[in-house]
Amino acid sequence: MSAQPQKPYRKNVHLTFPPEISGNPLVCNLTRLFDLTFNILKAQITPRKEGYLTLELMGDEANCTKAMEYLREHDVVVTPVAQRISRDEEGCMHCGMCTAICPTSALRMNLENRTVTFELDRCTACGLCTRVCPVAAMHVELENGHY
Ligand code: SF4
Ligand code: SF4
Repeated sequence: MSAQPQKPYRKNVHLTFPPEISGNPLVCNLTRLFDLTFNILKAQITPRKEGYLTLELMGDEANCTKAMEYLREHDVVVTPVAQRISRDEEGCMHCGMCTAICPTSALRMNLENRTVTFELDRCTACGLCTRVCPVAAMHVELENGHY
């Protein structure tokens, strides 16, 4: 029996860079030092030069953990995206409006039971769903009042 190919480890993280380190090539080093690849899901820099970056990381799980330690040692605040978003399960009425706007299909209509499923692992905390939900069931932690 042939072995199933291993699913690559993926993790979405949100990084906050204080102004004094915003010019350092820390993110490039994730590839060089830890053999990780990444997609930039969202990037923002404030007028005060504080940087925000949401990344999808791919690679070895142990290396990913080491890479997060490396970033923290260099004063980057690392927050798993899953800690920044939540759904009010009691409040959601499964209308499906958010499924049309969610760019990653983290919110999807289950056609069998007509309920909307929420897959945290796919979420990038972009905040789009919070703008269309008629009952404000989706919550995303804000940065300086902006998504
Ligand atoms: S838009 Fe709001 S109420 Fe409707 S399915 Fe999405 S989270 Fe639930
Ligand atoms: S914040 Fe909402 S719209 Fe954006 S990826 Fe997550 S679930 Fe989808």
